[in-house]
Amino acid sequence: MYKRSLILLFTAFLLTYSFSQAPDAHTLFIKNIYEESLTARNTNTVLQQLCQKFPRRLSGSNGLEDAVQWTKSLMEGYDFDNVFLQEVMVPHWERGEKESAYFYNSKGKKEHLSILALGRSIATPVAGISAQIIQVGSLQEIAQLGKEKIQGKIVYINKPFEQHFIRTFEGYTETVKIRTRGPSEAAKYGAVACVIRSVGTADDDYAHTGSLLYAANVPQIPAAALSVKSAKKLESALQHNPQSQLYLKINSKTLPDKMSHNVIGEIKGSEKPEKIIVIGGHLDAWDVGQGAHDDGAGCMQSVMALRMLQQMGYKPNNTLRVVLFTNEENGTKGGKKYAEYAFKNKEDHIFALESDAGAFTPRAIGINGPDSLVQKVKNWIKYFPDFTIDKIIKGKGGSDVEPLHKEMDTPVGSLMPDSQRYFDFHHTHADVFEAVNARELEMGTASMASFIYLVDQLGF
Ligand SMILES: [Zn+2]
Repeated sequence: MYKRSLILLFTAFLLTYSFSQAPDAHTLFIKNIYEESLTARNTNTVLQQLCQKFPRRLSGSNGLEDAVQWTKSLMEGYDFDNVFLQEVMVPHWERGEKESAYFYNSKGKKEHLSILALGRSIATPVAGISAQIIQVGSLQEIAQLGKEKIQGKIVYINKPFEQHFIRTFEGYTETVKIRTRGPSEAAKYGAVACVIRSVGTADDDYAHTGSLLYAANVPQIPAAALSVKSAKKLESALQHNPQSQLYLKINSKTLPDKMSHNVIGEIKGSEKPEKIIVIGGHLDAWDVGQGAHDDGAGCMQSVMALRMLQQMGYKPNNTLRVVLFTNEENGTKGGKKYAEYAFKNKEDHIFALESDAGAFTPRAIGINGPDSLVQKVKNWIKYFPDFTIDKIIKGKGGSDVEPLHKEMDTPVGSLMPDSQRYFDFHHTHADVFEAVNARELEMGTASMASFIYLVDQLGF
């Protein structure tokens, strides 16, 4: 008798133990997603193709439209239920022949600087511009110096990247104002051109391009970014000779707007096909490097997240849609147009998730939506394997999905990878396929697939 009850007790213990230890269906499915992505490495394969076939994908370029057709064919080849293009008019700015800048050092030797014109910058005159340099450390300093000190000179904004933030995106937001607003601020006081220290985290010789914003009613002046090494070289030259002159030549031009496209592919929902869950990235990229981290990776992660769910035999309840947005870098016209179409066609979006922060190890999902929703989603962390997504943060979605939030109040989100290295590559010649780690890239694909799977299963 005693022995029998002991056995029963032991069995009961075993059952309880195994039940409490057995992973539930969501945990198991998500584990499979990560294993599949890390083993097959399909995102890595298609990212290599995108980067090598279409390295130049700036708005208005043939490279971008060729990439549009290629990604459309790619998704058609996967037999997604619906693959289509959405027309978007986009700006067309071209860098032209390589820009140049130099000064003469104290020994009279010409010192060339590593520079890139900023996106949207006007050209210099054909002969270039030579003028005395006036160095400032901030936008405020330009205003303080005023017309008297600035008129007729080239303003050099030598502001280092705000390195003290742990998340480099916060440092970027603080520092990037010198790029977006610096040129017009300098022009207000009569500067003839503006150069800035690159908004990047690495101490190297890659200049970082990116958009400037010309203010209305202020003369437009040419503007460029110096690599951090060149910025330091110029700084020390100015210490020796504050009267130093800079020569600057930019060969850019702005052409009429051109037709481009958002590329869309979807797997129809089996229960509520009218309800849509979006994942995406932006297909355009700066005309330097290959736009591998920014944002070829986000595009290919989105396509392959859907592809992987399809291959695993998953039948979604709601429609899962990939959107490859056009023209994020110098206009965000793709994201805005997408939201406009969604509103006009009365589409019902449950959620939109963007990957546009580099192909690094995923850490968190950021969500822009009601507190109650963020709170609910925080409980989903338990479904993710250790060392994958371990945080849900209330914040912003990506810049392409934010218009959907503005237009229709749709909750939007962003994949938040580790950010330490992103601004080493951002908008430079170094942003190439070889700079992407295959495992980190695949972890991003798996994280996106897992998250939209949970949205589809558990609802928002
Ligand atoms: Zn981007």
